[in-house]
Amino acid sequence: MASLKTNIRSLGGIYKRYGAPLEKLGIINLEDFLYHIPNRYDDYTLISKISDVQPGEVVTIRGKVTEIKNQYTRGRFTIQRAKVKDETGEIDIVWFNQPYLIKNINVEDSISISGKVDFKVGKLQIGSPDYEIGESNFIHTGRLVPIYPETRGISSKWIRRQAFKILEDYNSELEDHLPDEIKNKNKLHSLNDAIYKIHFPENLEEVEQSRRRLGFDELLITQLAANQRRANWNKVLRSEAFEIDKHRNKTDKFIDQLSFRLTGAQKRTVEEIFLDLSKEKPMNRLLEGDVGSGKTVVAAISMYLGHLNGFQSVLMAPTEILATQHFKTISALLNPLNIKVGFSTGNKKESLEKFDVLVGTHAVISSKVNYEKLGLIIIDEQQRFGVEQRGILRKKGNNPHVLTMTATPIPRTIALTMYGDLDLSILDEMPKGRKEIKTWLVPNPKRNSAYDWIKKEIDKNNSQVFIVCPFIEESETMQTVKAATKEYENLKKNVFKKYKIALLHGKQKPKEKNEILTDFRNEKYNILVATPVVEVGIDIPNADIMIIEAAERFGLSQLHQLRGRVGRNARQAYCLLFTESPNPQTLERLKAMEKTNIGAELAELDLKLRGPGEIYGTKQSGKNYLKVASFSDFELIKTTKSEAERIIKDLNKYPKLKEKVEEKNVKEVSPD
Ligand code: ADP
Ligand code: MG
Repeated sequence: MASLKTNIRSLGGIYKRYGAPLEKLGIINLEDFLYHIPNRYDDYTLISKISDVQPGEVVTIRGKVTEIKNQYTRGRFTIQRAKVKDETGEIDIVWFNQPYLIKNINVEDSISISGKVDFKVGKLQIGSPDYEIGESNFIHTGRLVPIYPETRGISSKWIRRQAFKILEDYNSELEDHLPDEIKNKNKLHSLNDAIYKIHFPENLEEVEQSRRRLGFDELLITQLAANQRRANWNKVLRSEAFEIDKHRNKTDKFIDQLSFRLTGAQKRTVEEIFLDLSKEKPMNRLLEGDVGSGKTVVAAISMYLGHLNGFQSVLMAPTEILATQHFKTISALLNPLNIKVGFSTGNKKESLEKFDVLVGTHAVISSKVNYEKLGLIIIDEQQRFGVEQRGILRKKGNNPHVLTMTATPIPRTIALTMYGDLDLSILDEMPKGRKEIKTWLVPNPKRNSAYDWIKKEIDKNNSQVFIVCPFIEESETMQTVKAATKEYENLKKNVFKKYKIALLHGKQKPKEKNEILTDFRNEKYNILVATPVVEVGIDIPNADIMIIEAAERFGLSQLHQLRGRVGRNARQAYCLLFTESPNPQTLERLKAMEKTNIGAELAELDLKLRGPGEIYGTKQSGKNYLKVASFSDFELIKTTKSEAERIIKDLNKYPKLKEKVEEKNVKEVSPD
């Protein structure tokens, strides 16, 4: 007997066939369909007699099919033409290129049709409507109809049908995990009610109520889970404390001989980290700092302290390029102190026998690396690493300290909700003397004059230019690579004929990528064309000009991170945002880039304008990021936070809730 927890693939048939795309949507068992939340609703609530329909209206009509046929046009197109009649009249219905409809819909069928009424060649018609056969129990027409996140081959209509069926068959299995006391106090609907009405609401008020209940659950469980992780971390794990004072003169000396003075924020963060390291409880800290705020040197100081205490450290970066860059920076800082810095990306034959500090990609977690005394793990750009990988790495040492670093400007409230188990340090101060990057929005008509200006800058100042291609998909697919290659060819042949130009993308071999980057650094090229995925985090100190193509496809935070690649030297840097979007709201949003250079401000704006998905990138959607609740709902975050703190001690009293929390932690936390 199947249950809500049954893996859909085991049900065979269509579920098995659609297993992969459904998994992409986060649907693995039957219950996941119920938690696949609509992102909007088509309003088909206006039910009309045929004689009353008006052009321009979105209506539902109900009647009998009197005619249906395929009409073939020249080319490969077909039109499906039908007539539907009720007691007041008859109306034409048309669909395009859906020849199978004439099998699904028969003359004499009772049908319900929802769509927009048009006036075509002197007659009213409904074009490309939604429809369903039958006389009652309508779910696709004549009501608020849920529209879901879809993927190729999986339509909202299909998902809707599954949700409806599962709600009918398994309704009794949906046990409410919230204690009545909490529900009453916060005026929340029952789980059953909320789930049913989020899919099939009578009105928008019901959607609102359901969202509130489900959002409450999500935030409460997220925070309870974080509380539980923190409690576990504090309880079980013990590591050797680092000595601080004994080595203070050495770390001070190291800081003194740097080519720059630490910012106040860097100094404060170093102290926060040192304090953590001096305890027996392992550090679990998130270091958040805007692009260019100087996280790497903080990492280096921490690793130096680790070394002085006789421990190895590892620094893990999300890409080859970043790892290579870190290796160079860290080697330059630590080699003079007789610290052996190793490098591991899994691609080369690296010498890994002996190291004090290891820098690399996820290859550093492979079994080939032999850790002797791992005391500190540093993870750069944490959102790209799974918690699982973090867990494996932790097992390589005797509960080593963990520092995660990110340039994603997460507003404090959100950080405390999502990463409530981590301590937070924020580098909220930029190194002195950094010039603001002058940013301009360049609409299409000005593209050519922008190119001319760039040529002049190259001729005059020997400037180097970074051109980032449009963002097509989260992962670097062939499609992205093709688009970048095309753009590169075009620029090379038509625009920058006289200049030296190179192409960088993720499908190139690591060796090739490194060569291109090195050559670019050594000014063998004037212009580097790159795909968006490749560039995140790379440091090209000489580049002064950044062009971002199809800027409207990026969130403001992403644009800000991209722009941070230039302006790392004393010269004035520029960022040109190319866009062909005519949408005034989009242009207004992008204009914010001209006005502010502060990452956190842009993140807040993103949050307001486009929702949290933009800050975290779509990749997060599967795991961490919220499905129902919104990070901009500060009220609900606050309420659930205080509820979570109140009941965490008594979680045993609420076994169903506890189960949910543990389920979440199994999904999200390392297997240890
Ligand atoms: P991010 O936080 O983006 O990782 P990095 O650590 O790569 O930033 O630092 C960016 C650049 O700023 C590097 O070239 C680094 O040497 C330099 N830098 C770091 N801290 C300071 C400082 N306090 N003053 C001046 N330059 C600094
Ligand atoms: Mg960095």
